[in-house]
Parts: sequence; structure tokens; C-alpha cells
Amino acid sequence: MASKAQHVPTVDLGGLLYGELREQLLHRRDRLQQAQARGQAAQAARLLEAVDEALARMEQGSYGLCEACHTAVEPDRLMADPLLRFCIDHLPPEKQRALEADLELAAKLQARLLPAKDFQADGWRVAYHYEPAGIISGDYCDLGIGPDNELYFALGDVSGKGVAASLLMSNLSAMFRSLVPLNVPVAALVSHANRVFCESTLPTQYATVVLGKATPSGLVEIANAGHLEPLVVGPNSVRKITSTGLPIGLFRDEPVKSTMFRINPGEVLVLYSDGISESRDAADEEYGADRLAQVAAKCLQHSPREHVAQCIADVAAFRGSTTAHDDQTLMVLQRVQSERSDPAMPLHLV
Ligand SMILES: [Zn+2]
Repeated sequence: MASKAQHVPTVDLGGLLYGELREQLLHRRDRLQQAQARGQAAQAARLLEAVDEALARMEQGSYGLCEACHTAVEPDRLMADPLLRFCIDHLPPEKQRALEADLELAAKLQARLLPAKDFQADGWRVAYHYEPAGIISGDYCDLGIGPDNELYFALGDVSGKGVAASLLMSNLSAMFRSLVPLNVPVAALVSHANRVFCESTLPTQYATVVLGKATPSGLVEIANAGHLEPLVVGPNSVRKITSTGLPIGLFRDEPVKSTMFRINPGEVLVLYSDGISESRDAADEEYGADRLAQVAAKCLQHSPREHVAQCIADVAAFRGSTTAHDDQTLMVLQRVQSERSDPAMPLHLV
């Protein structure tokens, strides 16, 4: 690890991010010179020196590398402070403590953004499992009720971890909760999220997300932005709902399409993050979506909460003593008989 990338430093940051950081540093340099002229000499001189050192490191090609371990400093932290010289693991102890306090606060905020544990909508019962690998999660999981009693659901995975990923997750959550009551179509919701992401995130960050709407009569519409295929599991069948688009945060005006299908009473829709399907056992074998579908099929008679618990237990048993390196999120949406009659609607069955 220590010798890695000692002479290829800024490549990891990406050209765009590098350019942005350089611009930021030059801008700060101007401001500091102005401050110096206004008489804040001592402080400005010290910071000017730090900015010049950072610019010199850019010239030499060592910018963005931790001075202790020579691996790349986290890009989101550099964007917040382009003068950083150490990665998270090599911060001085007092800065480590301040960072931990920030992370814990972010974790509390994140927990408060999660939907109710046992969620019910007309024709549907839902449960989920949400487990960060670290203090905070980059996964996103949300539920809501639309103006016509439809169930809205979302599950996603923001690239990277830490505070930046959790902030993006909060962005998604705020957008979901403000637009769902307005009866916005699912494809438009994902389009909107894509634009917000493209405009507000680092060039290195993107997210995959499945966002859908389910009517009381079992019609489901899904827009999938590059996320893992949702599973429709029945007593004798498993259907994978194939992805319909690119992850959000990559291309601003990329159109988003949705897919429609029906789920019958007794069937479940299973959404999951890669922390579930890409769990590995001691022999480095991957858990996989097929294994998840098999367990899900065995649990159809259970309540959604029990269903989720059984699936998570199976993943944990498969993993054995190996630790989870990624956030794990699993959502089970169980179709139950609606109190309302079944309206006839045109749809493409998949
Ligand atoms: Zn380091």
C-alpha cells in the first residue's frame, strides 16, 4: 500500500477535479493577498505559504497524496479543504476526534431520515434492513405514499462512503419526500435526481437507484438508474426486472425510462444493494442475486419483517466469519389483497 502511486499522484483525482482544485487554490491565493494588503498580515502570510506549497505540490505531481502513507487523500475532503496533506487514517489525534464527532452527527441525521420500519400502503406491506458498514452508510432507502394512495419506494447506492455520500443521500431523501406528494411520474423523479446530482456533486460521484411506484391493485412502475435488478419472487417463479438506465450524476440530460409490470398477491418485490448480493464467503465466492431469490421464495408466507430477517440471516450465514465491507440494504415489498377493486389499466408485462 505504502509504495503505491508515489509518482502518479493526481491521476486518481480525475482531470476535472484536479482543475477545480487548482482554480480554488489560485482563487484563495488572490483573496489572501487582498487580506494581506488590508493588514491581516501574519495570518495571511501563513496561509499564503500553505497555498503556495500546495500549488508547488501540484507542479511536482505529489498533490493529493497523504504525506504519511502516499495513498490518495479522499477527494471529497480535498474539495472541502484543498490544503489537506493527510488521509483520514493519518490525521493528528485531535483532528481524528473532531472528524469522528462529525461522522456520528451525520449518522444520527441519517438514521432519522429512514422510513418507518413496518410500512403499510393499500395493497402492500413493506419491511427493510439498513446496515452501514462503517459509521454512516452510502446506501439510500426510502418509502412514501402518493396522493392516490400509491406506494412509492426507492433504494440506491451512492458511490463512495463517508460524509459526502451521506449528504448526497440526504439530498435524494429531501427530493423524494418533496416530490412524491405531487404525483410526479417515477421517470421524472429519477430525471430530477439526476440533474440535482450532476449539478451538485463532485465529478467522481454518482449513484445507482431504483425508484418505483406501486398501485393498490399491484401495478408496479420502476425506473432503474443503473442499480442491481429488482427481483419479483413468487412460489414458483423468479423474475428479474432488467435495468432501464445509467446511474444518476453522470450525464445531465440523459432521458430516463420506466418499466411496468404486475405483482400478484402472494408475490414479493425484492430490492437490495451490492453489499447484499456481493457479500463474499471465506473462499471468496459471491453470494449473488440467485441465492437471494431462492431464500426469498422460501419465506413467502412470512411477514415482510420476518422475510427480511431470514434473508439477512442467510447472507450472514453465507459470509461466515468474513466481515462486511459494504453497506447492506434490503427491502421486501409484499403484495397483499387491496381493499379496493382492481382497475383495468394498459401495461407492458415483463
Ligand atoms: Zn495516509
